[in-house]
Formats: sequence, C-alpha cells, structure tokens
Amino acid sequence: MTRVGVNGYGTIGKRVADAVAAQPDMEVVGVTKTRPNFEADTARRRGYDLYAAIPEREDAFAAAGVEVAGTLPDLLDAVEVVVDCCPSGVGAKNRELYRAHDVPAVFQGGEGAEVADVSFNSRANFEAARDAEFVRVVSCNTTGISRIVAPIQEAYGIEKVRATLVRRGGDPAQSDRGPINDVLPDPVAVPSHHGPDVNTIFPDLAIDTLGLTVPATQMHTHSLNVTLESEPTPEEVRELLAAEGRTFLIPEHADIDGAGKLKEFAMDVGRPRGDLWENCIWEKSINVVGRDLYLFQNVHQEADVVPENVDAIRAMCTDRSADDSVAMTNETLGIGFDYPDTPVDGDWEPMTADD
Ligand code: NAD
Repeated sequence: MTRVGVNGYGTIGKRVADAVAAQPDMEVVGVTKTRPNFEADTARRRGYDLYAAIPEREDAFAAAGVEVAGTLPDLLDAVEVVVDCCPSGVGAKNRELYRAHDVPAVFQGGEGAEVADVSFNSRANFEAARDAEFVRVVSCNTTGISRIVAPIQEAYGIEKVRATLVRRGGDPAQSDRGPINDVLPDPVAVPSHHGPDVNTIFPDLAIDTLGLTVPATQMHTHSLNVTLESEPTPEEVRELLAAEGRTFLIPEHADIDGAGKLKEFAMDVGRPRGDLWENCIWEKSINVVGRDLYLFQNVHQEADVVPENVDAIRAMCTDRSADDSVAMTNETLGIGFDYPDTPVDGDWEPMTADD
C-alpha cells in the first residue's frame, strides 16, 4: 500500500483524496486544511485524518471544535508521497519542505513546469515519471489536449495543432471570479501560453493556442484543428478516439448540446460531484477536410486531472506499467461511459409540456 498525503483539500485535493482512497494499492494517510471551514468538516465526515497545513493555526481548529491529527510536518513524516493541491504558486514554496522530509511530491498545473523534474500525462509520458522526486500533473486544458494529441500523433502524424480554448471564468464555488457578462480574449496576446505548456509533454509538437474566458463555471470548451501528415477518414478518427480509455464520444442521439447537459448526465449516472474525468468530444464535430482534422470537446476542469494524479503516484512509487496503472485507475473510478450506439426506436417528436 502506498501511503499518500494530500496537502490542500480544496477543489482538486478533495477529488484526488477520494480517488486515492478508491485504489486497492493506496491509502490516504491524511489531508491538510489551512482553516476549519466546511471542507475540513467534509474531510472528517469522509474519514480522512485532518492536519493543519499551517502549524501556527492548529489552535484555530481546536477552537472550532475540529479535531486534527497534527500538522503538515507530522503528515509528511507519515507518508511515502504527498500530492500538493495548494493554490497556484504555493506548491513551489512547499517544495523545499517536502525535500527536507525526503518525501516525493506530485504538483498541479498551476505551478510552473520548473517546479518538477517532469510534467506528466498518463497517456503520453507515464514512464518519464518513474521514480522521479517531483512530478507536475499538467493543467486541465493541457491534459485535455494531450489526450487527443497522443493517439492522433501515433496514428496519423501531426504537422501542426491550432487550438482555441474557451475557458470557464471560475469553478462553481468561486463566487469572486468573472467575467459575469462578457467574453474576454484571455490572454490577449496570441498565441497564448497554453501551447508551450503542451510542449512540456510533447517537446517537438508544433502548436499554437488562443484563449478566451467566458461567464460559465462548469467546463472548458476546446475547438481543435490538427493538420495531419496523412488523410484518415472522419470515421477512422472517431474509432481511434472512441477506443481511448479517457474519452467520451458524445453521440448525436444523446441530445447533449453543452456543458449543462453533460453535467446533468454525469449526475444522472451517479458520478461523484457530477465529475467528468473524460474528454467529452462531440462525435459529430469530428471531421477531416484534406489533412485538417477538426473537433469540439469539453473538459471538466475540476475532474480530468484527477486520474492522472493517481497514475503519477504509481509511476513514482511502484513498478506497475502504464497500462496496468491506467486500467486500474479507470476500473476503480468507473471511467468511461457505455453509451448505447444507436437510438432506440420511438417517436422523437418533442412534446409540449402542459404547463
Ligand atoms: P482551491 O483553492 O480550490 O484549493 C486549494 C486548497 O489549498 C484550499 O483548500 C486552500 O484552503 C488550501 N491552501 C491554501 N493555502 C495553503 C497552504 N499554504 N498550505 C496548504 N493548503 C493551502 O484550488 P484548486 O482549484 O484545487 O487548485 C489547486 C491546484 O490545482 C492549482 O495549482 C490549480 O492551478 C490546479 N488546478 C486547478 C483546476 C481547477 O479548475 N480548479 C484544474 C486543474 C488544476
């Protein structure tokens, strides 16, 4: 059993903790919070030992009646690996503390690439994280792009990727983020910094990205154009992407037109927190014109990096192969949808509601 600590039990940290707890070969030793808010309560309800992230604030937990098992240094002494899920930039400051405790760490995409020995995506470069001291799971957007680039590059070769990233303004709980009534070129400078982040996974890939931020909270939408080195049919590309373990090709007959219905579907089928770990690709959008491949996909920013964190831990701390790890993570979390291929026969005319 790999003993894992999660430093920063927020949006990503709480999901990583649950995913680690679901693994037969891993155990959550504890999670940290900076203050005794509702998430500290959630951690306790889920049975995780809680540690004060900032030792001087330990008393605040006692004062609020929230029991802690110790402080971050105590947690680091009890684990084999820590997953740093602190806000962007805080992880880099924690790096020397982890090293002082001789604990390897997984960082998140909000940190610069220089925080780690390797930037990681399970599908693209699992082996690069083998036995590494510090690994960075790339951002939600870079994860979403990497999962497309890896199989497409292997199957058809890539001359150039152009991606427009329509990004959610904030996560659902981030009431202080915006915009609330605008569409922002963000960053205005073109191409954006997202392409170079993809190059931390695929150093030789030619890629230009453009970013926008919109008043939405549920998911990011990517418009992808990939100039290939060969000319597959759209059907061949659909089959290739459908065969990937962390994709969901949204069939036309599912009647899912955006993030709202995708999240509704995820909740309907009982996904924890309505999480979508897969790249959600509109099947009908996949088209090839000459050597140009086009598609639209949505990525759930709070969820798609979660299985990658689990795999990063295995690459660093075990000798399991990439295929074994990914299969185990997919199986334990229930990644992938077995959506019926064809619509059932019936009357599809919309009916007017009585009210
Ligand atoms: P968050 O703000 O939801 O959670 C961060 C947690 O860390 C909070 O619980 C906060 O209280 C805690 N914290 C703050 N300071 C701390 C400290 N000094 N020590 C320990 N804990 C501290 O942030 P998040 O969205 O979960 O993001 C975490 C990381 O994951 C960032 O690098 C971010 O860029 C990356 N990421 C976020 C998303 C997303 O959409 N939310 C997606 C992919 C990657």
